[in-house]
Amino acid sequence: MPGKPTKSEEEKSTEEDSLEDLPGVGHTTAEKLREAGYRDFMEVAVASPDDLAAAADVGEGIAQKIILEARKRAKIGGFESGAEILERRKRIGHISAQSNAINELLGGGIETQAITEFYGQFGSGKTQMALQAAVTVQLPVEKGGLNGDVVYIDTENTFRAERFSDMAKALGLDPDKALSRVHVARAFNSNHQELLVPKAFELAHDRPVRLLIVDSLTAHFRAEFLGRGALADRQQRLNRHMHELLRFSDVFNAAIICTNQVSARPDVLFGDPTGPIGGNIVGHTATYRVYLRRSKPPHRIARLVDSPNLPEGEAVFSVTGEGIRD
Ligand code: ATP
Ligand code: MG
Repeated sequence: MPGKPTKSEEEKSTEEDSLEDLPGVGHTTAEKLREAGYRDFMEVAVASPDDLAAAADVGEGIAQKIILEARKRAKIGGFESGAEILERRKRIGHISAQSNAINELLGGGIETQAITEFYGQFGSGKTQMALQAAVTVQLPVEKGGLNGDVVYIDTENTFRAERFSDMAKALGLDPDKALSRVHVARAFNSNHQELLVPKAFELAHDRPVRLLIVDSLTAHFRAEFLGRGALADRQQRLNRHMHELLRFSDVFNAAIICTNQVSARPDVLFGDPTGPIGGNIVGHTATYRVYLRRSKPPHRIARLVDSPNLPEGEAVFSVTGEGIRD
């Protein structure tokens, strides 16, 4: 009987995007795409032609055609009315930072469909902030979470399960259950770090991942791309990596947290010679940039440096045995 599809029919139509329906995509190409983490029309639709060409082993012209058709099928790609944008933005969720001052600074907490970068010197609280969010995101929405799993890309081997458990217990979560919802991958170099993003896409099809953390975003890139000659390459790779992260945040309505150290910047000739690594590329791609610095223990100061919709400002918070607090 024609009419409104039943629930199961609706589910079927969204769950079973067949990549083979796209022009020029046979079974082999579809398999390659799925292996690279492109599972549905939406993911193909927001890919860049060169990424897709590399993943599917086809020419860029064909990749372009595939993407255009996927955009039609996923009903995206044209202009969006302001009303539609508002509708999409209504789906944005927030993860409480467990500090009212920081939540206020960030307009309600750490936002989904966005990248929040925490940068600062060693010991400024970047990893603590990331661990805290990894716990909090598991809480129900009314308690400041998103009832979600976490992907934690750890480049410096600083994820501490014990510390995470302490924070989980402090919020009344069962620490073992909470630990089972954090999916930690140690990234051994920048290449590996980049490859973990498509892995995260795969995982997010099976688990409700609502937060992806990269701690640290820049350490491998900084160590591997030395000297002025390597700078352009490094920036290009970082740029691409961050755009993949943004794509993840869009597709899964997830929050992205990146940490970044500050350094004396040999690449800066004028102006402030210290600053976050990755400079403009990271700064322009991150939606929110938050500078953390130490104050009188256990206090820290967070400063919102760059935001499309919020005023600059500062918040005082503490790192305590239970986690981040006011
Ligand atoms: P790096 O650049 O080295 O990665 P970071 O900004 O990630 O530094 P964090 O690991 O977030 O630094 O912060 C470490 C600080 O957090 C410690 O110096 C300490 O002050 C505080 N801290 C860590 N664990 C606890 C705890 N259990 N109780 C209280 N404070 C703690
Ligand atoms: Mg750290």
